[in-house]
Amino acid sequence: GNESRVKAVYEITRANPFAAEMTAPLKEIWACDVFGLQQMEESLSKSAFKAIKKTVQTGAELDPAVADVVAAAMKDWAMSKGAKFFSHIFYPMTNATAEKHDGFVVTNSDGGAITEFTGSLLIKGEPDGSSFPNGSLRMTNAARGYTAWDPTSPAYIMHTANGAVLMIPSVFMSWTGEALDKKIPLLRANAAMDKAAKKVLTLMGETEIAPLNSSCGAEQEYFLVDELFANARPDLLLAGRTLFGAPPAKGQQFDDHYFGAIPERVQVFMQDLEDKLYRLGIPAKTHHNEVAPGQFEIAPYFEAANVASDHQQLLMTLLKKTAKEHGFTCLLHEKPFAGVNGSGKHVNWSVGNATQGNLLDPGSTPNENLNFLLFCGAVIRGVHKFGPLLRAAIASAANDHRLGANEAPPAILSVYLGSQLEKVFDNIKTGELHVPTTGGQMDLGLSQILKFERDPGDRNRTSPFAFTGNRFEFRAVGSSQSVSGPLVAMNTMLADSLEWIAEKLETELSKTSDKAVAVFAVLKELMELHGNVVFGGDGYSAEWHKAAVEERGLQNIPTTADALPAFKSPEVIELFSKTGVLTPVELASRFEVYAEQYVLSIEVEAKLVAEMATTMIYPAAIKYLSQIASAGIQLDYSPAGAVAETASAMMASVEKLNAALESEHFDSTETHMSFLADEVRGLMDEVRTAADKLETLVADDLWPLPKYREMLFIK
Ligand code: ADP
Ligand code: MG
Repeated sequence: GNESRVKAVYEITRANPFAAEMTAPLKEIWACDVFGLQQMEESLSKSAFKAIKKTVQTGAELDPAVADVVAAAMKDWAMSKGAKFFSHIFYPMTNATAEKHDGFVVTNSDGGAITEFTGSLLIKGEPDGSSFPNGSLRMTNAARGYTAWDPTSPAYIMHTANGAVLMIPSVFMSWTGEALDKKIPLLRANAAMDKAAKKVLTLMGETEIAPLNSSCGAEQEYFLVDELFANARPDLLLAGRTLFGAPPAKGQQFDDHYFGAIPERVQVFMQDLEDKLYRLGIPAKTHHNEVAPGQFEIAPYFEAANVASDHQQLLMTLLKKTAKEHGFTCLLHEKPFAGVNGSGKHVNWSVGNATQGNLLDPGSTPNENLNFLLFCGAVIRGVHKFGPLLRAAIASAANDHRLGANEAPPAILSVYLGSQLEKVFDNIKTGELHVPTTGGQMDLGLSQILKFERDPGDRNRTSPFAFTGNRFEFRAVGSSQSVSGPLVAMNTMLADSLEWIAEKLETELSKTSDKAVAVFAVLKELMELHGNVVFGGDGYSAEWHKAAVEERGLQNIPTTADALPAFKSPEVIELFSKTGVLTPVELASRFEVYAEQYVLSIEVEAKLVAEMATTMIYPAAIKYLSQIASAGIQLDYSPAGAVAETASAMMASVEKLNAALESEHFDSTETHMSFLADEVRGLMDEVRTAADKLETLVADDLWPLPKYREMLFIK
């Protein structure tokens, strides 16, 4: 029955969640748990600091003697913060992080305890690699995996109630040196982009070019549900989403939650979370209510992609941990509740350096404008040529519920430029925007300088990939996903496009000394080949779905089963090996790992659907039927008939679902995935439809699962 529901409602509404301490001033806590350059400068000799600073800022190799000194300083700092253990933290091919803790302690010959942390311990760790997903790489090497310190992402302290651990961001590779993680490809993709961008900038006459880096600012959406409700739902516990649940009479139709006043209990949680983030040097910048009831967003200020990506993982970890401390369960799943909006993660991304600045910012001089147009063109080409790769990079069973559901961008990759910039590129394509060179003066045909207003408000929500004034925003990324995969795909496609542009530009520049003429010639060709991907209209509309495919030749890729095979396409294999980001073997292992995760997550959900329907929902229906029967009254109208009918329909669907789950022997991973996408998902929906109907028929006091109205509205 619903005793646990009643009790939960009582306890939640009685609790006093606001007994929190006042938070500390920002100045006192900012980055206080980070072993950054400032801490290093304080604790290292001048020469050691100079060496490590160079490594941190440029990735230059570190002298082992310096590593020893840094390790000793890091240990002393960590121990002064209460740490007795350290851990390399790494980023396997799942969306989670992994860590193995080791003590600083060693004993001496007198049986006393001393501590030790050498450069080699800092630099290299050796966790057992066998239990991490490694796809086909499992075959080429037995179990061994290595972690190696990434000095470009700072070490930090993670506190628990009674202690602390020094965490060292690391890469993770196999014994034979293959990337088993999400960090190595990101570092390589950055390097490939840097190399190609330098070629283009050099051709554009730039003489001083600092190393280029990509930037990332991720907007994270999430739901908060009281843990008393969440713990009473096996589906939320094991799958992170509700597999059942009838829509409440009131959902999000009033749009009264979006940017509304934040409930006090939630604001207390947010402030606590943000202080934890500040201690770790993560610049939390905005928070607000999102569209669905119970849904919120947090967005830190952008940082270098590698650091932003580590920080994003840490943010997800701390969201869950802090929520628990406040009696909430934080749901990062892309679609925890049917019928209300799901959660995404907008990945804001740009590239730039210290000398040319942000290359996706039009800037204020004609020269900056030309660089901007080239880099923007490179993105357009990249999305057009590698749209299926971008789609594959965000593919998961969970994200499939959002994409194309008219609440999140469609599963067709197009680029939104905004009307002004779209017109510039259109004119370049048709040749209207030529360069009349009057005495060396350049006139871009609009004004002397292009300036792009950032679109006000929410802009075009229906576009998966939008220019937003000085960056692109990849909006189709899922809320639970690591941002690394999308960043790898974006940086790599950009590297490829910039290489293409460099080659064309070199040819054009051999014909003319006017850079603008050369740039416009290259961009004209680029737009003729790839301009089809630019779309400013309504991405939700049926017309676009038709036109995108039939007239524009773009692909609509609705499910993960359809998307993941992109990793096996010759173009993508060539892209990654040419740029040095992933070898064919490393790429193949990614297909296998992601496909396996897709299969496993649907199978877990399907089993849970069958189990909950059989052991919780059917018994509730039967109990209600027996109550009606024992009342012994004959009414003109009784729900008994409908309940009996729906309950047996549900169990018939459960039987079909169980039978489908028995199927084995698929001739390929692809057919297995398609079977799950096309058959199993449909059967799960069939069971759910019947169960949700029962929820509207069966007496409320018999219903065993917390209802949507309770989970979404009671805080
Ligand atoms: P909106 O909801 O309007 O898109 P938000 O303020 O919620 O805006 O988030 C915008 C995100 O974009 C922030 O994380 C911000 O730091 C980030 N951002 C701004 N400029 C850049 C840039 N050049 N590169 C990457 N991210 C950026
Ligand atoms: Mg936003």
